[in-house]
Amino acid sequence: MTRHTNLFENVNRQFDAAADILGLSLELRELLKTPYREITVAMPLRMEDGTLRVFKGYRVQHNGVRGPQKGGIRYHPDLELDDVRALASLMTWKAAVVNIPFGGARGGITCDPAKLSLHELEMLTRRYISKLSMVLGPTRDIPAPDLNTNAQTMAWVLDEYGRKNGYQPACVTGKPLELGGSQGRPAATGKGLAICAREAWEGVLGGTLQGATVALQGFGNVGSHAATFLHEAGAKVTAVADLYGAVRAPGGLDLPALRAHAHANRGSVTGFPGGEAFDPATLWEQPCDILIPAALSGVLTRETAPLVQARLVLEGADAPTTPEADEIFQARGIPVIPDILANAGGVTVSYYEWVQNLQQLFWDEAEIFSKEEKVLVQAFAEVHERVLAHHCSWRTAALVLALERVKKANELRGW
Ligand code: GLU
Repeated sequence: MTRHTNLFENVNRQFDAAADILGLSLELRELLKTPYREITVAMPLRMEDGTLRVFKGYRVQHNGVRGPQKGGIRYHPDLELDDVRALASLMTWKAAVVNIPFGGARGGITCDPAKLSLHELEMLTRRYISKLSMVLGPTRDIPAPDLNTNAQTMAWVLDEYGRKNGYQPACVTGKPLELGGSQGRPAATGKGLAICAREAWEGVLGGTLQGATVALQGFGNVGSHAATFLHEAGAKVTAVADLYGAVRAPGGLDLPALRAHAHANRGSVTGFPGGEAFDPATLWEQPCDILIPAALSGVLTRETAPLVQARLVLEGADAPTTPEADEIFQARGIPVIPDILANAGGVTVSYYEWVQNLQQLFWDEAEIFSKEEKVLVQAFAEVHERVLAHHCSWRTAALVLALERVKKANELRGW
């Protein structure tokens, strides 16, 4: 999502580091890097002010050898096809790391949702789905929420898909509970981050979450839930930055009060009376044990990585760390738990939502969270084994695990 870095190139550079370890041939690399299908659609929309605008939308299906394509739909003014390719490929690796039977896709619309009315957003979503519906479906490609989309967006997806195909709740995940959504889905990505933080901080670095300090970029669905779970585990969230500003409190922010404040303040932490305001650009240099970028891609760069004081970085956002920053963290001995593991809780619970929809039998939140916990603890341990075996970064180790699984599935199915 940044103009200055090409995300797809970055993801493929990271892929190559893992492919080197596995000794993958050039032809296999090309096969596994190249998206299976890419679709661009134009969506004319009569705006409420009477003007006609043509929006662009994308869906990239990267790899479906392990199951139906799966991944979110994001709305962002800077979204480009190459970003979607990168994000789709990350989904392939993410689903494989947590070993759920999905391939990887991603999609979105180049638009600024803050400048659209609710009605315009609904119309845009419906046109997008109507133009893509022939390649979607419970056994083909299953969208979900992502940046700037939510359960309401998924309700429109369900309805629009159903107009042509009949009622099929398993065609989309992250739906409202009333329409067959799953318990725990909104909190699932944040929950997964907290699980990975515990496994890394306590299990690998030998610390204790009780009293550990956490700094966060982003207080949306992912960041605010991660902060809440870490707060409940005894950690102190000492600094939070968002698009509009930042607050800090060295003794720890009162998380329930901060969430209530953000809720009443367009989602932003600005003006929170329980902390001191600071320049969000200086978030990276705030003293903390654990740093969680949970907003944008490409924010940890060769300029910002040297400023980081944390002992552990956990990627809540997709692709927040550039390859140059990765090298800096590796040289400084700061583990970076990569997006395809750290934020995989969302797609894991999406998988359970899909399973519940297919069998029309629903589980309670405790059941969902215990399933998510088991999946993530297992994936974390499997990635850790590869960190130790190959003396590589956590990102490379996670990609090694993912490549092992995707390659095997590909071999079994035939080229
Ligand atoms: N957009 C989320 C992700 O990137 C969720 C995807 C899903 O649930 O399918 O992991």
